[in-house]
Amino acid sequence: MLFTLQNIGVHEGLDAMTVKKVHLANNLSLMCIGAASILFIFTLTYNVPLEAKVFLCFIGPVLSIIPTLNYFRYYRIAQIAFCCLALLIITSMSVTLGKSFHFQYVLLPYLGLPFVMFEDEIGIKKIIFSLFGILLFIYLEWHFCNFDPLITLPEDGPKANQFLTDILIFGIVFLLFFFFINENKSYIKKLQRKQEQLVDKNYELEHFTYICSHNLSEPLRTASSFLEFVKKEIKDSSKKLDIYFNYIHEEIERMDQMILSLLSFSKLSKAFDFKVTDLNTTLSDIKIELKEVIAEKNVVFNYEYLPSIYAEPQLIKKLFKHLISNAIKYQKQDALPFITIHFKENPNNWEFVVVDNGIGIKEDNQHKIFSMFTRLHLDSEYDGIGVGLSFCKKIIEIHGGQIWVESKVNEGSKFHFSIKKHLPVQ
Ligand code: ADP
Repeated sequence: MLFTLQNIGVHEGLDAMTVKKVHLANNLSLMCIGAASILFIFTLTYNVPLEAKVFLCFIGPVLSIIPTLNYFRYYRIAQIAFCCLALLIITSMSVTLGKSFHFQYVLLPYLGLPFVMFEDEIGIKKIIFSLFGILLFIYLEWHFCNFDPLITLPEDGPKANQFLTDILIFGIVFLLFFFFINENKSYIKKLQRKQEQLVDKNYELEHFTYICSHNLSEPLRTASSFLEFVKKEIKDSSKKLDIYFNYIHEEIERMDQMILSLLSFSKLSKAFDFKVTDLNTTLSDIKIELKEVIAEKNVVFNYEYLPSIYAEPQLIKKLFKHLISNAIKYQKQDALPFITIHFKENPNNWEFVVVDNGIGIKEDNQHKIFSMFTRLHLDSEYDGIGVGLSFCKKIIEIHGGQIWVESKVNEGSKFHFSIKKHLPVQ
């Protein structure tokens, strides 16, 4: 029953953070409704003034607004409403019952409430709501010095049992403290568990890709060899048949390349050897490796003295090589490739841009190109298998950064990426 009530408004697909807040708002509202009901029954047995009974009668229905708002998925409004109502109820109870009931001390654990409710937001709401709590506490102390309680409880009633009332109020205060601390601890534990599961799943997935691609290449090679046998057996093969054979052969080769790419993709996140990497050396090595195509297409490079960054040297080389190769490949017919590399140092990361004067990418397609095997052109236009940029994205993720593109058709593309300065994700 309690489990069902705390889950009012929770639905599949809701993120862990919101679920936690929905639980918190529902639990606290239900706790307050329960406490108000018990107090109400308590007032029935004593000769308590009618105003107190009416006030307690209203707390339940007013607080049930919170689970109702959660039910209709107005989570944000429910959180703000709960903080406001909590302040209102604590203040009215304190003003009504007077100093001797110590109800104002419930404002102390209340101070933690905005921090839990708005933990994913920057400062302002947390500070405003907590500040209200402190101001009300100060106001109440002043109020008690200047005004009598709104209702005077009968001498034979709860007031006579001051010690018990004190224990009750301080019990509530400690309970709420404990509740907030526990809530945060269990959330952190849940997050840690989720992260561990994610690491395991990631490992499984990489292993699966590795096994799959490893096993797939075997039958492919066998098929390719048998195709050669068949070709030799058919002595008087027609021209048409030759074209078909070549076509099958090309497709097999293409598939083999794709499988090999999958295999190297799954190996990407394995052995990291992060060290200070001089990007000028990286660029010189790439230029040597690409010297033929650079000479053939008369590629012009333009970059200032590059920094040394903390990175995995082999992966960083792969990244720059892919981007430079694409900048050379995706060019207009007979155009002179002009490649510029800029960089900027930010407090936490390095930001690089590889600019080309190539064919550019339509805006609609710009988000697609970082996915595996996505190509925007036919093989007859530009060869490739659509893995280069997904490699780049993975490499950047390993370095705790981001990659994105700005491009205009026929004008060129700017591939931006950032690389974290410290503590890369390992
Ligand atoms: P591939 O080059 O093997 O096709 P990529 O993943 O490197 O695979 O690129 C995906 C697609 O993004 C390419 O098919 C191409 O259409 C587009 N693309 C990549 N780099 C550029 C570039 N510098 N200029 C224009 N288009 C590009």
